[in-house]
Amino acid sequence: MIDCIFCKIITKEIPSDIVFEDDNVVAFMDIQPVSKGHVLVVPKNHSADFLSAEDSVIGLLMPVVKQLGLAIMQAVNAQGMNITSNIGAAASQSVFHLHFHLIPRFDKDGLQSWPHQKIEPKTRAEIAESIKKNLWNI
Ligand code: AMP
Ligand code: ZN
Repeated sequence: MIDCIFCKIITKEIPSDIVFEDDNVVAFMDIQPVSKGHVLVVPKNHSADFLSAEDSVIGLLMPVVKQLGLAIMQAVNAQGMNITSNIGAAASQSVFHLHFHLIPRFDKDGLQSWPHQKIEPKTRAEIAESIKKNLWNI
């Protein structure tokens, strides 16, 4: 049995503030929210992250992410929302059970967004070609 904090939330071994649950998905309040109304949506079936999960798991998850996104926006009067799923420690993933962050955003909330970089058009085009080639290998 894998030692996973989100599996323990799913089985109620660890308490959490659950806002939605069905046969396949649970959503609960993040214990250290980035903003007011920050919710995590997780599949009950353990997968380490979004990219290693079965398509069937993703298919069950995404409609709930959308529905909850709408409910949270209304509940906390948000003007925007970041929906994100971190994959790997390099991307700041700390809990290795697939989850989506639903982070409400407010006008002038002072939170940082992604830092953008300059890139040479040639380099950008080469990366685009590499991505297109790799799509055929999956
Ligand atoms: P990530 O860093 O993308 O893996 O996100 C993990 C998230 O889980 C963080 O935002 C944590 O605050 C949150 N978290 C960790 N433990 C708990 C818990 N017991 N209940 C609710 N949220 C948690
Ligand atoms: Zn798990």
